[in-house]
Amino acid sequence: MDKEQLRLQLERLQEIGIDELFYTPDGWSSSSTTEESHRSEQSAVKPSEDSPLDEIARLVRACQNCPLSATRTNAVPGEGNHSARLVFIGEAPGGDEDRLGRPFVGRAGQLLDRMITALGLSRGQVYIGNVLKCRPPENRDPLPEEMKACAPYLDRQLDIIKPLVIVALGRFSAQYLMGSTVTIGRLRGQKGSRGNAVIIPTYHPAACLRFPEYKKYVWEDLQKAQQILNETKG
Ligand code: SF4
Repeated sequence: MDKEQLRLQLERLQEIGIDELFYTPDGWSSSSTTEESHRSEQSAVKPSEDSPLDEIARLVRACQNCPLSATRTNAVPGEGNHSARLVFIGEAPGGDEDRLGRPFVGRAGQLLDRMITALGLSRGQVYIGNVLKCRPPENRDPLPEEMKACAPYLDRQLDIIKPLVIVALGRFSAQYLMGSTVTIGRLRGQKGSRGNAVIIPTYHPAACLRFPEYKKYVWEDLQKAQQILNETKG
């Protein structure tokens, strides 16, 4: 990385409120980030009408498998690159997401976007979704029966995408994907697996907005994700 690249990277980090650096032997970004860009842009999503993820999205939008179908404005199936190597999974749509039918588009989503940019990636190169596809009223916690009813959609999405790294954002996502009941504070720092994918649990961007000190931990976790991507040619 030359001085100009370093300056740009530091500016991106400042934008997301990170003022501590976690330098790894691979540096802030590596040549494989460029490879990732090329690969992802080549496969960038222009899904065909009958792509399996589009079919799931249709099923989700019509789904009435749990009571959240009665209170949602729009279901939020998820979006992004259909062959993404890096996937972000939150717990459920919030108010902005419910209104627009898209994942992570509110303030927390904007922070996630800035973090993705700081990794040298774009939103179109990753896939972003939630365990629950419909908003719980007043953003309350997901209920176990809702998670049970909805999680098969996520499982199918991940089976299709086959990512290398799944970043689990927040408690409910991390607990579901890690098969655990412990707190996100205890799950963070561990790694799980799902098939060939590595699961990295971290704090939800909304938690980072409430507790800005969490941003450095999320950034540290995202660096681990990037390191796995860089080490794995694809
Ligand atoms: S939350 Fe999931 S299971 Fe419940 S109605 Fe929405 S898509 Fe269906």
